[in-house]
Amino acid sequence: MASRVIPVEAFDLVVFGGTGDLARRKILPALFKRYCAGQMPGPSRLIGAARSEFTSDDYRDFVRPALKEFGEAEEGTSLEAFLNQIEYVTIDARGSTGWQELSTLLEGHDRIRAFYFSVGPGLFKDLAERLHGYRLVDPASRIVVEKPFGRDLETARALNKVLCRHFAEGQIYRIDHYLGKETVQNLMAVRFGNMLFEPLWNAQYIDHIQITVAETVGVGGRGAYYNKAGAMRDMMQNHLMQLLCLIAMEPPAQFEPDSVRDEKLKVIRALSSVEPHHIVRGQYTQGDGVQGFREDVDDPRSKTESFIALKCHLSNWRWASTPFYLRTGKRLKGRDSQITVVFKDAPHSIFGPDAGRHNNELTIQLQPNEGITLDVTIKEPGQGGMRLIDVPLDMSFAEALGPDADAPGAYERLIMDVIRGNQTLFMRDDEVEAAWAWTDPIIKGWEARGDVPKPYDSFTSGPDTAQQLMRRDGREWRGIDP
Ligand code: NAP
Repeated sequence: MASRVIPVEAFDLVVFGGTGDLARRKILPALFKRYCAGQMPGPSRLIGAARSEFTSDDYRDFVRPALKEFGEAEEGTSLEAFLNQIEYVTIDARGSTGWQELSTLLEGHDRIRAFYFSVGPGLFKDLAERLHGYRLVDPASRIVVEKPFGRDLETARALNKVLCRHFAEGQIYRIDHYLGKETVQNLMAVRFGNMLFEPLWNAQYIDHIQITVAETVGVGGRGAYYNKAGAMRDMMQNHLMQLLCLIAMEPPAQFEPDSVRDEKLKVIRALSSVEPHHIVRGQYTQGDGVQGFREDVDDPRSKTESFIALKCHLSNWRWASTPFYLRTGKRLKGRDSQITVVFKDAPHSIFGPDAGRHNNELTIQLQPNEGITLDVTIKEPGQGGMRLIDVPLDMSFAEALGPDADAPGAYERLIMDVIRGNQTLFMRDDEVEAAWAWTDPIIKGWEARGDVPKPYDSFTSGPDTAQQLMRRDGREWRGIDP
């Protein structure tokens, strides 16, 4: 089942930071794939913009290997035709260099203008001011803002204020690429498209929900940034919070940007404060051929966490008494992101104590191998009485939808949503601020206590205390698949 391509209008996408890591690895390859799928109408252009002194031809030579490495591009007509739709301007976000050239390049082309801020957040204000000052934006123009969106409530508010000075909220696309993942959207389809689950989707039937986003990589080349951010700011406040919103929100009246975002906001606002003993922070140590976190960030006394697990509650009617366990970390034993909804035991076992107790679990696997599994209890085959076992009803999307399903990647989908003007999968200003309002006291709490993260061996499941967090409640994390 090939994915349907919905046409978009012609556009100019200006990528500030067009020479950077994100542009090379994600944005340009994503656009190339959309081009190959026929979703980049003829006159559309991608305009790279950064300080490096490239001509457009130099930039195409710079982009070509990135498209081959990250965009599965092969030498040939598609690649060259796509490169012909690419231009470059040398520009300084903080100065005047290049702005007139960009203006000339955009002038006289009546098409959608989108400006992707793929630069450090310290430049967002400068870009917004210059875009406005050089009159490069009209009411139909959009800006795309990368994470991190602030480092606390105060900085996020200040950033919102600056952006809102020059753009309407409806023009600002705060990107969280987790929301562009096929399975994340399937989460909404499964919940709100099926009668089966929604009646059971509450504290009465669900014992707890756990969300894991595990990575095997360390901090890589982002040590300086990461040492200031940590897993709470880098992952929990945005990606895991967004997953929590989608799993816990009330059905929106329509699948339409503000209806969905209103419901997500209510979830964030319903989050109770987190008890200090419900938080586990960890730091990976060296071993198995890799450096430890402190060596990676070049700070032998770093107190920044590369792992965090916490238990939280939502104070609302649907979820009162249902705990949510969230964990994320680097250098864990597998690259494995999943949400598991663990249903309560059946109220009474008619099969006697020997049959064991079993419950249903719905697992939404985000990566790798996107898919959904429902563990169902059945009789163990064979003679010897009624013993029960759990077997998975397994729906791997790749298998269920066939080899041609070819769902677009997260950046592909989100960039096209920007062009279409659909903000459903982007965060609104109040959502981001509410997320920081919940996160700030947690971080301030451990800073005030002088909390030092627990060391954990690289390529494990994190600190033992994270296991204890669940075991104390008589529960277990689902294993992280290597
Ligand atoms: P990066 O590799 O350091 O690239 C930064 C880009 O900004 C370069 O193209 C640089 O090019 C340009 N730049 C720097 N100063 C400039 C100025 N004064 N005027 C114009 N351009 C300037 O960073 P990145 O990893 O691509 O990240 C970009 C943004 O995405 C950051 O906000 C980051 O937090 C976010 N992000 C990145 C990733 C990722 O996987 N990389 C993931 C999520 C979010 P010149 O030096 O040529 O000017």
